[in-house]
Amino acid sequence: MSRFFSEKFSDLVPYVPGEQPQDQQYTKLNTNESPFPPSPAVVQAMRDAGASANLYCDPQCRVLCSAIAKEYGVQPDQVLPVNGSDEIINFAVMAFCDETHPLAYADITYGCYPVFADFNRVPSHIIPLREDFTIDYRDYCGLGETIVIANPNAPTGIALPKREIEQIVRTNPDNVVIVDEAYVAFGAESCVDLIDKYDNLLVCQTFSKSHSLAGARLGFGFAQASLLADINAIKYSTNPYNVNRMAQAAGAAAMADNGYYLSNCRTIMENREYTVEKLTELGFSVLPSKANFIFARTDRMEGGALYRALKRDGVLVRHFDKEKISDYLRISIGTREQMDVLLQKTRAILEQEGN
Ligand code: PMP
Repeated sequence: MSRFFSEKFSDLVPYVPGEQPQDQQYTKLNTNESPFPPSPAVVQAMRDAGASANLYCDPQCRVLCSAIAKEYGVQPDQVLPVNGSDEIINFAVMAFCDETHPLAYADITYGCYPVFADFNRVPSHIIPLREDFTIDYRDYCGLGETIVIANPNAPTGIALPKREIEQIVRTNPDNVVIVDEAYVAFGAESCVDLIDKYDNLLVCQTFSKSHSLAGARLGFGFAQASLLADINAIKYSTNPYNVNRMAQAAGAAAMADNGYYLSNCRTIMENREYTVEKLTELGFSVLPSKANFIFARTDRMEGGALYRALKRDGVLVRHFDKEKISDYLRISIGTREQMDVLLQKTRAILEQEGN
Protein backbone atom coordinates (compact mmCIF):
# COMPACT_ATOMS: atom_id res chain seq x y z
CA MET A 1 0.00 0.00 0.00
CA SER A 2 1.36 3.46 -0.81
CA ARG A 3 1.11 6.40 1.56
CA PHE A 4 -1.50 7.91 -0.80
CA PHE A 5 -4.16 5.20 -0.42
CA SER A 6 -7.29 6.70 1.08
CA GLU A 7 -7.94 5.96 4.74
CA LYS A 8 -11.48 4.99 3.83
CA PHE A 9 -10.16 1.84 2.14
CA SER A 10 -7.61 0.88 4.77
CA ASP A 11 -9.56 -2.22 5.83
CA LEU A 12 -10.59 -3.31 2.32
CA VAL A 13 -10.31 -7.07 1.74
CA PRO A 14 -10.52 -7.48 -2.06
CA TYR A 15 -11.97 -10.53 -3.79
CA VAL A 16 -9.36 -13.07 -4.85
CA PRO A 17 -10.21 -14.44 -8.33
CA GLY A 18 -9.42 -18.05 -9.22
CA GLU A 19 -5.97 -18.63 -10.71
CA GLN A 20 -5.56 -17.68 -14.38
CA PRO A 21 -2.11 -19.13 -15.11
CA GLN A 22 -0.38 -17.80 -18.22
CA ASP A 23 2.77 -19.94 -18.00
CA GLN A 24 1.69 -23.58 -18.08
CA GLN A 25 -1.01 -25.58 -19.86
CA TYR A 26 -3.37 -26.96 -17.23
CA THR A 27 -6.54 -28.97 -17.52
CA LYS A 28 -8.33 -25.88 -16.30
CA LEU A 29 -11.35 -26.69 -14.16
CA ASN A 30 -11.11 -23.87 -11.62
CA THR A 31 -13.16 -20.85 -12.75
CA ASN A 32 -16.31 -22.32 -14.30
CA GLU A 33 -15.59 -21.21 -17.84
CA SER A 34 -17.12 -22.99 -20.80
CA PRO A 35 -14.70 -25.47 -22.39
CA PHE A 36 -16.24 -24.62 -25.77
CA PRO A 37 -15.14 -21.61 -27.85
CA PRO A 38 -17.63 -18.96 -28.96
CA SER A 39 -19.41 -19.85 -32.22
CA PRO A 40 -17.65 -18.76 -35.46
CA ALA A 41 -20.31 -16.07 -36.04
CA VAL A 42 -19.60 -14.58 -32.60
CA VAL A 43 -15.85 -14.53 -33.22
CA GLN A 44 -16.47 -12.84 -36.58
CA ALA A 45 -18.82 -10.29 -34.99
CA MET A 46 -16.12 -9.35 -32.46
CA ARG A 47 -13.56 -8.99 -35.28
CA ASP A 48 -15.90 -6.77 -37.29
CA ALA A 49 -16.73 -4.62 -34.25
CA GLY A 50 -13.02 -4.30 -33.48
CA ALA A 51 -12.55 -2.51 -36.79
CA SER A 52 -14.60 0.40 -35.39
CA ALA A 53 -12.96 0.43 -31.98
CA ASN A 54 -11.87 4.02 -32.57
CA LEU A 55 -15.50 5.04 -32.01
CA TYR A 56 -17.29 4.91 -28.68
CA CYS A 57 -19.82 2.14 -28.32
CA ASP A 58 -23.56 2.69 -27.82
CA PRO A 59 -23.89 3.34 -24.06
CA GLN A 60 -27.49 2.10 -24.19
CA CYS A 61 -26.52 -1.15 -25.97
CA ARG A 62 -29.74 -0.91 -28.02
CA VAL A 63 -29.05 -3.66 -30.55
CA LEU A 64 -27.93 -6.03 -27.82
CA CYS A 65 -30.92 -5.24 -25.57
CA SER A 66 -33.34 -6.01 -28.43
CA ALA A 67 -31.58 -9.29 -29.23
CA ILE A 68 -31.63 -10.44 -25.60
CA ALA A 69 -35.22 -9.26 -25.05
CA LYS A 70 -36.43 -11.23 -28.07
CA GLU A 71 -34.74 -14.44 -26.94
CA TYR A 72 -35.83 -14.15 -23.29
CA GLY A 73 -39.39 -12.94 -23.92
CA VAL A 74 -39.08 -9.58 -22.14
CA GLN A 75 -39.15 -5.93 -23.27
CA PRO A 76 -35.88 -4.25 -24.32
CA ASP A 77 -36.24 -1.72 -21.46
CA GLN A 78 -36.29 -4.64 -19.00
CA VAL A 79 -32.71 -5.59 -19.94
CA LEU A 80 -29.55 -3.84 -18.75
CA PRO A 81 -26.24 -5.16 -20.14
CA VAL A 82 -23.14 -4.76 -17.97
CA ASN A 83 -19.43 -5.50 -17.93
CA GLY A 84 -19.83 -8.98 -16.42
CA SER A 85 -22.58 -9.70 -13.92
CA ASP A 86 -20.26 -8.82 -11.02
CA GLU A 87 -20.72 -5.23 -12.10
CA ILE A 88 -24.50 -5.21 -11.84
CA ILE A 89 -24.41 -6.91 -8.44
CA ASN A 90 -22.08 -4.17 -7.20
CA PHE A 91 -24.26 -1.49 -8.84
CA ALA A 92 -27.31 -2.98 -7.11
CA VAL A 93 -25.57 -2.92 -3.73
CA MET A 94 -24.71 0.74 -4.37
CA ALA A 95 -28.27 1.53 -5.44
CA PHE A 96 -30.36 -0.47 -2.98
CA CYS A 97 -28.32 -0.83 0.23
CA ASP A 98 -27.25 1.52 3.00
CA GLU A 99 -27.02 1.62 6.80
CA THR A 100 -30.75 0.96 7.10
CA HIS A 101 -30.91 -1.55 4.24
CA PRO A 102 -28.27 -4.18 5.00
CA LEU A 103 -27.36 -6.85 2.46
CA ALA A 104 -28.52 -10.34 3.45
CA TYR A 105 -26.85 -13.41 1.98
CA ALA A 106 -25.83 -16.95 2.90
CA ASP A 107 -22.68 -17.80 4.87
CA ILE A 108 -21.53 -20.11 2.09
CA THR A 109 -22.08 -18.31 -1.21
CA TYR A 110 -20.36 -16.22 -3.85
CA GLY A 111 -17.33 -14.41 -2.39
CA CYS A 112 -18.05 -11.08 -4.09
CA TYR A 113 -21.16 -10.38 -2.00
CA PRO A 114 -19.27 -9.57 1.23
CA VAL A 115 -16.65 -7.67 -0.77
CA PHE A 116 -19.26 -5.46 -2.46
CA ALA A 117 -21.05 -4.88 0.87
CA ASP A 118 -17.82 -3.87 2.61
CA PHE A 119 -16.66 -1.74 -0.30
CA ASN A 120 -19.93 0.20 -0.17
CA ARG A 121 -19.93 0.42 3.66
CA VAL A 122 -23.11 -1.60 3.83
CA PRO A 123 -23.75 -3.90 6.81
CA SER A 124 -23.96 -7.61 5.98
CA HIS A 125 -26.55 -9.96 7.43
CA ILE A 126 -25.06 -13.40 7.00
CA ILE A 127 -27.53 -16.28 7.12
CA PRO A 128 -26.14 -19.79 7.67
CA LEU A 129 -27.04 -22.56 5.26
CA ARG A 130 -28.57 -25.70 6.69
CA GLU A 131 -26.25 -28.55 7.71
CA ASP A 132 -26.72 -30.14 4.27
CA PHE A 133 -25.68 -26.89 2.50
CA THR A 134 -29.21 -26.08 1.35
CA ILE A 135 -30.83 -22.67 1.76
CA ASP A 136 -33.96 -22.55 3.91
CA TYR A 137 -35.98 -19.99 1.95
CA ARG A 138 -38.04 -19.23 5.07
CA ASP A 139 -34.95 -17.55 6.58
CA TYR A 140 -35.37 -14.84 3.94
CA CYS A 141 -39.15 -14.39 4.01
CA GLY A 142 -40.31 -11.04 5.44
CA LEU A 143 -36.72 -10.06 6.21
CA GLY A 144 -37.05 -6.38 5.32
CA GLU A 145 -33.47 -6.20 4.00
CA THR A 146 -31.91 -6.18 0.54
CA ILE A 147 -31.30 -9.82 -0.33
CA VAL A 148 -28.91 -11.49 -2.75
CA ILE A 149 -29.28 -15.17 -3.52
CA ALA A 150 -27.23 -17.11 -6.02
CA ASN A 151 -29.49 -19.65 -7.70
CA PRO A 152 -27.96 -22.17 -8.17
CA ASN A 153 -25.76 -21.29 -5.23
CA ALA A 154 -22.00 -21.16 -5.58
CA PRO A 155 -19.85 -22.99 -4.69
CA THR A 156 -22.37 -25.66 -3.68
CA GLY A 157 -24.27 -25.88 -7.01
CA ILE A 158 -27.52 -26.48 -5.13
CA ALA A 159 -30.62 -24.76 -6.62
CA LEU A 160 -33.79 -23.47 -5.00
CA PRO A 161 -37.09 -24.05 -6.79
CA LYS A 162 -38.63 -20.96 -8.38
CA ARG A 163 -41.68 -21.09 -6.10
CA GLU A 164 -39.42 -20.66 -3.03
CA ILE A 165 -37.61 -17.69 -4.57
CA GLU A 166 -41.00 -16.21 -5.40
CA GLN A 167 -42.00 -16.49 -1.73
CA ILE A 168 -38.90 -14.52 -0.77
CA VAL A 169 -39.67 -11.82 -3.35
CA ARG A 170 -43.36 -11.67 -2.43
CA THR A 171 -42.75 -11.37 1.31
CA ASN A 172 -40.19 -8.57 0.96
CA PRO A 173 -42.23 -6.09 -1.10
CA ASP A 174 -40.35 -3.03 0.17
CA ASN A 175 -36.88 -4.40 -0.48
CA VAL A 176 -34.99 -5.45 -3.57
CA VAL A 177 -34.27 -9.14 -4.01
CA ILE A 178 -31.32 -9.84 -6.30
CA VAL A 179 -31.38 -13.33 -7.80
CA ASP A 180 -27.96 -14.12 -9.21
CA GLU A 181 -28.57 -16.66 -11.98
CA ALA A 182 -24.97 -16.91 -13.20
CA TYR A 183 -25.36 -20.70 -13.49
CA VAL A 184 -29.06 -21.03 -14.25
CA ALA A 185 -28.56 -22.43 -17.76
CA PHE A 186 -27.32 -25.74 -16.37
CA GLY A 187 -30.58 -27.07 -15.02
CA ALA A 188 -32.15 -24.64 -12.52
CA GLU A 189 -35.39 -22.66 -12.89
CA SER A 190 -35.05 -19.02 -13.93
CA CYS A 191 -37.07 -16.24 -12.30
CA VAL A 192 -36.86 -13.90 -15.31
CA ASP A 193 -40.56 -14.38 -16.06
CA LEU A 194 -41.44 -13.02 -12.59
CA ILE A 195 -40.17 -9.51 -13.29
CA ASP A 196 -43.50 -8.26 -14.64
CA LYS A 197 -45.20 -9.35 -11.44
CA TYR A 198 -42.71 -7.94 -8.88
CA ASP A 199 -41.20 -4.46 -8.96
CA ASN A 200 -38.60 -5.46 -6.32
CA LEU A 201 -37.00 -8.30 -8.30
CA LEU A 202 -33.64 -8.00 -10.07
CA VAL A 203 -32.46 -11.11 -11.91
CA CYS A 204 -28.79 -11.12 -12.93
CA GLN A 205 -27.35 -13.39 -15.58
CA THR A 206 -24.06 -13.69 -17.43
CA PHE A 207 -22.72 -14.89 -20.77
CA SER A 208 -19.47 -15.89 -19.04
CA LYS A 209 -20.41 -19.53 -18.53
CA SER A 210 -23.34 -20.63 -20.70
CA HIS A 211 -22.32 -18.50 -23.71
CA SER A 212 -18.53 -18.98 -23.73
CA LEU A 213 -17.77 -15.27 -23.21
CA ALA A 214 -15.99 -15.10 -19.83
CA GLY A 215 -13.13 -13.19 -21.43
CA ALA A 216 -15.41 -10.69 -23.18
CA ARG A 217 -17.12 -9.60 -19.91
CA LEU A 218 -20.83 -9.52 -20.62
CA GLY A 219 -23.59 -9.87 -18.09
CA PHE A 220 -27.02 -8.33 -17.71
CA GLY A 221 -29.87 -7.62 -15.37
CA PHE A 222 -33.57 -8.21 -15.94
CA ALA A 223 -36.05 -6.08 -13.99
CA GLN A 224 -38.85 -3.59 -14.41
CA ALA A 225 -37.70 -0.42 -16.18
CA SER A 226 -38.03 1.69 -13.00
CA LEU A 227 -35.58 -0.52 -11.09
CA LEU A 228 -33.14 -0.54 -14.02
CA ALA A 229 -33.34 3.27 -14.16
CA ASP A 230 -31.84 3.35 -10.65
CA ILE A 231 -29.03 1.04 -11.70
CA ASN A 232 -28.48 3.15 -14.81
CA ALA A 233 -28.07 6.19 -12.55
CA ILE A 234 -25.14 4.37 -10.92
CA LYS A 235 -23.77 3.21 -14.27
CA TYR A 236 -23.83 6.70 -15.78
CA SER A 237 -22.14 8.04 -12.62
CA THR A 238 -19.27 5.56 -12.80
CA ASN A 239 -18.63 4.13 -16.27
CA PRO A 240 -21.17 5.05 -18.99
CA TYR A 241 -19.47 2.98 -21.72
CA ASN A 242 -19.12 -0.09 -19.54
CA VAL A 243 -19.97 -2.68 -22.23
CA ASN A 244 -17.45 -2.35 -25.01
CA ARG A 245 -18.19 -2.50 -28.72
CA MET A 246 -16.80 -6.04 -29.18
CA ALA A 247 -18.76 -7.43 -26.23
CA GLN A 248 -22.00 -5.85 -27.46
CA ALA A 249 -21.52 -7.36 -30.92
CA ALA A 250 -20.61 -10.74 -29.42
CA GLY A 251 -23.73 -10.80 -27.26
CA ALA A 252 -26.07 -9.95 -30.13
CA ALA A 253 -24.45 -12.56 -32.39
CA ALA A 254 -24.64 -15.15 -29.60
CA MET A 255 -28.41 -14.67 -29.44
CA ALA A 256 -28.67 -15.45 -33.15
CA ASP A 257 -26.71 -18.67 -32.47
CA ASN A 258 -28.47 -19.60 -29.23
CA GLY A 259 -29.04 -23.20 -30.34
CA TYR A 260 -25.28 -23.82 -30.35
CA TYR A 261 -24.96 -22.57 -26.78
CA LEU A 262 -27.99 -24.44 -25.45
CA SER A 263 -26.59 -27.62 -26.96
CA ASN A 264 -23.21 -26.97 -25.27
CA CYS A 265 -25.01 -26.51 -21.93
CA ARG A 266 -26.71 -29.90 -22.42
CA THR A 267 -23.34 -31.52 -23.10
CA ILE A 268 -21.93 -29.97 -19.92
CA MET A 269 -24.89 -31.30 -17.91
CA GLU A 270 -24.26 -34.79 -19.33
CA ASN A 271 -20.56 -34.53 -18.49
CA ARG A 272 -21.53 -33.39 -14.99
CA GLU A 273 -23.65 -36.49 -14.39
CA TYR A 274 -20.84 -38.68 -15.76
CA THR A 275 -18.27 -37.04 -13.46
CA VAL A 276 -20.54 -37.33 -10.41
CA GLU A 277 -21.03 -41.02 -11.09
CA LYS A 278 -17.29 -41.71 -11.48
CA LEU A 279 -16.27 -39.63 -8.46
CA THR A 280 -18.91 -41.37 -6.35
CA GLU A 281 -17.39 -44.72 -7.39
CA LEU A 282 -14.03 -43.37 -6.14
CA GLY A 283 -15.60 -42.68 -2.74
CA PHE A 284 -16.42 -38.97 -3.09
CA SER A 285 -19.58 -37.34 -1.81
CA VAL A 286 -20.84 -34.79 -4.32
CA LEU A 287 -23.53 -32.21 -3.58
CA PRO A 288 -26.47 -32.26 -6.03
CA SER A 289 -25.44 -29.67 -8.61
CA LYS A 290 -27.50 -27.72 -11.13
CA ALA A 291 -24.45 -25.70 -12.19
CA ASN A 292 -21.48 -26.17 -14.51
CA PHE A 293 -19.39 -27.23 -11.52
CA ILE A 294 -19.62 -29.72 -8.71
CA PHE A 295 -18.63 -29.50 -5.06
CA ALA A 296 -17.08 -32.72 -3.84
CA ARG A 297 -15.14 -34.18 -0.92
CA THR A 298 -13.62 -37.47 0.07
CA ASP A 299 -12.57 -39.00 3.38
CA ARG A 300 -9.60 -40.46 1.55
CA MET A 301 -7.68 -37.17 1.39
CA GLU A 302 -7.86 -33.68 2.83
CA GLY A 303 -9.24 -31.06 0.37
CA GLY A 304 -6.22 -28.73 0.32
CA ALA A 305 -3.78 -31.63 -0.16
CA LEU A 306 -5.80 -33.06 -3.05
CA TYR A 307 -6.02 -29.60 -4.66
CA ARG A 308 -2.22 -29.23 -4.46
CA ALA A 309 -1.54 -32.75 -5.77
CA LEU A 310 -3.90 -32.19 -8.72
CA LYS A 311 -2.22 -28.87 -9.50
CA ARG A 312 1.20 -30.52 -9.40
CA ASP A 313 -0.15 -33.05 -11.90
CA GLY A 314 -1.51 -30.37 -14.23
CA VAL A 315 -5.18 -30.22 -13.18
CA LEU A 316 -6.45 -26.95 -11.74
CA VAL A 317 -9.55 -26.99 -9.53
CA ARG A 318 -10.71 -24.55 -6.84
CA HIS A 319 -10.21 -24.98 -3.11
CA PHE A 320 -11.60 -22.54 -0.53
CA ASP A 321 -9.66 -22.36 2.71
CA LYS A 322 -12.78 -21.56 4.68
CA GLU A 323 -14.40 -23.22 7.67
CA LYS A 324 -17.15 -25.73 6.81
CA ILE A 325 -15.94 -26.19 3.21
CA SER A 326 -12.16 -26.65 3.47
CA ASP A 327 -12.55 -30.36 2.74
CA TYR A 328 -14.34 -29.69 -0.53
CA LEU A 329 -13.09 -29.06 -4.04
CA ARG A 330 -15.08 -27.10 -6.58
CA ILE A 331 -14.57 -28.72 -9.95
CA SER A 332 -15.74 -26.98 -13.14
CA ILE A 333 -17.29 -29.27 -15.72
CA GLY A 334 -15.40 -29.33 -19.00
CA THR A 335 -15.32 -31.67 -21.98
CA ARG A 336 -15.54 -35.43 -21.49
CA GLU A 337 -11.78 -35.61 -22.22
CA GLN A 338 -10.98 -33.02 -19.55
CA MET A 339 -13.14 -34.85 -17.01
CA ASP A 340 -11.38 -38.12 -17.84
CA VAL A 341 -8.02 -36.45 -17.15
CA LEU A 342 -9.34 -35.22 -13.79
CA LEU A 343 -10.67 -38.67 -12.91
CA GLN A 344 -7.52 -40.47 -13.97
CA LYS A 345 -5.22 -38.09 -12.04
CA THR A 346 -7.47 -38.21 -8.97
CA ARG A 347 -7.50 -42.01 -9.01
CA ALA A 348 -3.69 -42.12 -9.33
CA ILE A 349 -3.16 -39.57 -6.52
CA LEU A 350 -5.46 -41.44 -4.12
CA GLU A 351 -3.63 -44.71 -4.91
CA GLN A 352 -0.17 -43.13 -4.49
CA GLU A 353 -1.21 -41.72 -1.15
CA GLY A 354 -2.15 -45.27 -0.13
CA ASN A 355 -5.69 -44.16 0.69
N1 PMP B 1 -22.22 -14.73 -9.68
C1 PMP B 1 -21.65 -15.88 -9.36
C2 PMP B 1 -22.36 -16.78 -8.40
C3 PMP B 1 -20.42 -16.25 -9.91
O1 PMP B 1 -19.83 -17.40 -9.54
C4 PMP B 1 -19.79 -15.38 -10.83
C5 PMP B 1 -18.47 -15.77 -11.47
N2 PMP B 1 -17.36 -15.63 -10.70
C6 PMP B 1 -20.42 -14.18 -11.12
C7 PMP B 1 -21.64 -13.88 -10.55
C8 PMP B 1 -19.80 -13.14 -12.02
O2 PMP B 1 -19.61 -13.56 -13.30
P1 PMP B 1 -19.25 -12.53 -14.46
O3 PMP B 1 -18.81 -11.23 -13.81
O4 PMP B 1 -18.17 -13.19 -15.22
O5 PMP B 1 -20.50 -12.35 -15.23
